[in-house]
Amino acid sequence: MKYDYLIVGSGLFGSVFAREAKKKGKKCLVVEKRDHVGGNVYCEEIHGIQVHKYGAHIFHTSDREIWQYVNQFAEFNNYVNSPIARYKQELYNLPFNMNTFNKMWGVTTPKEAQDVIMEQIAGLHIVRPANLEEQALSLVGRDVYEKLIKGYTEKQWGRECRELPAFIIRRLPLRFTYDNNYFNDRYQGIPVGGYTRLIERLLEGVEVRLKTDYLRHREELDGLAERVVYTGMIDQFYGYSMGVLEYRSLRFETEELKMENYQGNAVVNYTEKEVPYTRIIEHKHFEFGKQPTTIISREYPSEWKKGDEPYYPINDERNDDIYERYKKRADEDGRVIFGGRLGSYRYYDMDKVIAEALKVCRKEL
Ligand code: FAD
Ligand code: UDP
Repeated sequence: MKYDYLIVGSGLFGSVFAREAKKKGKKCLVVEKRDHVGGNVYCEEIHGIQVHKYGAHIFHTSDREIWQYVNQFAEFNNYVNSPIARYKQELYNLPFNMNTFNKMWGVTTPKEAQDVIMEQIAGLHIVRPANLEEQALSLVGRDVYEKLIKGYTEKQWGRECRELPAFIIRRLPLRFTYDNNYFNDRYQGIPVGGYTRLIERLLEGVEVRLKTDYLRHREELDGLAERVVYTGMIDQFYGYSMGVLEYRSLRFETEELKMENYQGNAVVNYTEKEVPYTRIIEHKHFEFGKQPTTIISREYPSEWKKGDEPYYPINDERNDDIYERYKKRADEDGRVIFGGRLGSYRYYDMDKVIAEALKVCRKEL
């Protein structure tokens, strides 16, 4: 056979695997169905601005090994994510912290903020939150839930907060300090020159075939390599034979505006239900850009159906059960390694995907 590994998908998982395998003297072929590498972290440079084509990506991690790993392939700037939440004409700092509570209630001390929250949830008696609504209410009280969480979350996921798993909201920090850093992680930044360059450096010296859908050329491609690393949708790989895994999809409306600064921040979330998009990204602010024009993207969540771009796995009980069945089959198969957000059907951040890829490499190579 011509290659040791056929790697399906040139996102972070596939690219990290390819780089590590090459280092160990393995011959790899990466096939990618899109016309560019990078998966969802892909950036396109437009008039000197790195445009995050599949949604805003901020790298953050607490894992020193992962931070050192990515720093081999890019220099990271000192961007710190501090989104603004806009509810009608009111603006609030995120994540939920003393600045948010001061604006919401006029309180100035942590004790006052905690007292308001306690008062708002006193009658609810939530001991172990069973869903996202209960989780959010028990953490931040009714006002913050109604204004900053409910509308945003129901637009984002297309379901009632009561039908969503609690863990989604636990991704966000909650602090009783005046600190607008969206992440608790020790390391954070945006790769200077964009994520595409980082991926290209990972793939240096590796053969890549773009516009090649593995599932359409399966027989021919399978004949080329001993092993397959698959980072596409696991249910699609098996012809949906044990059920269709659900996703949430997104649509981006991107435009260039003839002004230097449109919204004064990289990320503004629109938290009321009536506005159809969830956020507006102004890409230049990720790199402190001073270009004469600016590029913004409105992000519209949408229903996913077969054939659409899968963005967010919906890790509820039904879908997780279906996934487990595919996982069992995959473990029995042995020849194919599944990985990444789609291959393992997990709502993973970039650092977790890299960590997972490196773990697989240690075992496999
Ligand atoms: P992907 O990037 O999806 O790559 C999979 C690749 O496989 C794709 O290029 C696809 O085209 C290709 N492929 C699939 N099927 C086939 C096939 N049959 N044949 C050939 N090629 C195929 N993480 C963070 O850490 N910080 C953030 O701020 C952040 N923001 C995000 C915002 C959004 C809107 C989304 C959706 C995700 C965000 N993430 C963020 C998560 C991040 O995007 C993922 O962790 C990461 O991109 C996953 O990499 P991957 O290689 O697993 O998958
Ligand atoms: N969320 C919210 N209001 C906001 C931002 C986030 O209610 O202004 C909730 C929403 O349910 C979202 C979750 O918090 O799905 C996680 O937010 P995060 O920013 O991590 O979403 P992602 O970057 O994955 O899109």
